[in-house]
Amino acid sequence: MEPVTDDPATQPPTSGGRPLLGAADIRRLAAELDVRPTKTLGQNFVIDGNTIRRIVAAAKLDPQDTVLEVGPGLGSLTLGLLDVARHVVAVEIDPVLAGRLPRTIEEFRPGHGGRLDVVLSDALKVTSLPAEPTALVANLPYNVAVPVVLHLLENFPSLRTGLVMVQDEVADRLAAGPGSKTYGVPSVKAAWYGQLRKAGVIGMNVFWPAPKIHSGLVGFERREPPATTAKREDVFAVVDAAFAQRRKTLRAALAGWAGGAARAEEALRAAGIDPQARGEKLAIEDFARIAEAGRGAA
Ligand code: SAM
Repeated sequence: MEPVTDDPATQPPTSGGRPLLGAADIRRLAAELDVRPTKTLGQNFVIDGNTIRRIVAAAKLDPQDTVLEVGPGLGSLTLGLLDVARHVVAVEIDPVLAGRLPRTIEEFRPGHGGRLDVVLSDALKVTSLPAEPTALVANLPYNVAVPVVLHLLENFPSLRTGLVMVQDEVADRLAAGPGSKTYGVPSVKAAWYGQLRKAGVIGMNVFWPAPKIHSGLVGFERREPPATTAKREDVFAVVDAAFAQRRKTLRAALAGWAGGAARAEEALRAAGIDPQARGEKLAIEDFARIAEAGRGAA
């Protein structure tokens, strides 16, 4: 019988017949570069071909896509992305990993290095790229996953779709809708930019080193932000204020933002929101209306 997994110990993983990085390759590259994966940079490298194929399939890329990959690491996902997309722009903060990546691609996909740009940079700060990205696909460094996603969606409006792997708990938070227990600041802010959906859970043993937590996949489709005259920053300020004191009514939670509880109540009523409600029940459109009304009341 055919083996159902491509256990790296028994056969090297592939994508459409082309080789991917297995555990032995990751070990070899890490030893060559003397890489000691750090927690600070969220360095957990994927050693499993099934996981790469799953991420790439869930990303539903178009052959014309230019993919922005944050944190390519040793190149596990980069190889899978190059097999289905026109171009990959990989932003990596670690100079040793960024420096090795073009050679790894040349080794595993000879002649395809011209479809990859490696940018040595902090994804939280990057505001321009060598090519306009249309899709974000990444196994993100977990400690900065949410700010990275929000920063990139804000700065690269050409990103129309995406699929990211993050800490499972964060995946739930990003994809949560109003009223759910996990709904909070990341959910509301992400909803400004688009529609997010949970696209699966990933175990720990597909990484080296193995993290202590499960990972989750989150898919993303961009849509127009809510129709409002309020600026995005002003809407996000209301969101931050509402969730900073999650258990309080909006009237109380927004008092600091509005310049007093009475003014908060006035803005809430003008926006058609019950002042006794809590932020966790509101959608991004509601926060936009409050921001708009607050400007009038101020
Ligand atoms: N994509 C690779 C994989 O799947 O095996 C590695 C993923 S690992 C979870 C996260 C990667 O992000 C690491 O390579 C790390 O060096 C990089 N990284 C961490 N913080 C970063 C940042 N602020 N900007 C860009 N890359 C970052």
